[in-house]
Amino acid sequence: MNKAELGRLANEVRRDLGLTPDQRFDPLHWAREWGVPMLSLDQATSDPATLQRLTVDAPELWSAAVVKDHLGHCVIYNHAHSAARIRSDLAHEVAHLIAEHRLDVAWMEPGGKKCGASPAHEKEAAELGGALLVPAAAAKTHAVYGWQPETLAARFDVSLEMAIWRMRVSGGPKIRERWLAKQGR
Ligand SMILES: [Zn+2]
Repeated sequence: MNKAELGRLANEVRRDLGLTPDQRFDPLHWAREWGVPMLSLDQATSDPATLQRLTVDAPELWSAAVVKDHLGHCVIYNHAHSAARIRSDLAHEVAHLIAEHRLDVAWMEPGGKKCGASPAHEKEAAELGGALLVPAAAAKTHAVYGWQPETLAARFDVSLEMAIWRMRVSGGPKIRERWLAKQGR
């Protein structure tokens, strides 16, 4: 799927959840509607060594993954991260599920931060996950008006990094640049 198709898909999913273009996407809301359990790492395992390593010693090693068993899919995430990071990680995993990527991969790659899908699928999931959290139209408007990424991040409850990225890829900054150039500024 190209970026426009992924954007349309994200908007459809948001509409199905009853969200207006201005409202925040809550991955846990999606999970309840779709019957996909989302478990924090300490709900998913009681192995002290695993918990110590992934939530205390080296939380950067692992974010989240979709796990498939005979009952279906569930998502496991690292609760040691910030709320904004968890939201972004979960939206990414939701994107894999929505885009129907093959998810028979191992849930954790040794030393890898990301789930082990193909690079093309990872790119799709990043774009789709981003569009679920911050719709392209909102990011574009924000950039065209020259508003600060901080306000976009606050509105959609995402990290500043995510807001900056969504504004940059929205095409908004170029439109603003051209407009400013025309005004002779
Ligand atoms: Zn992924």
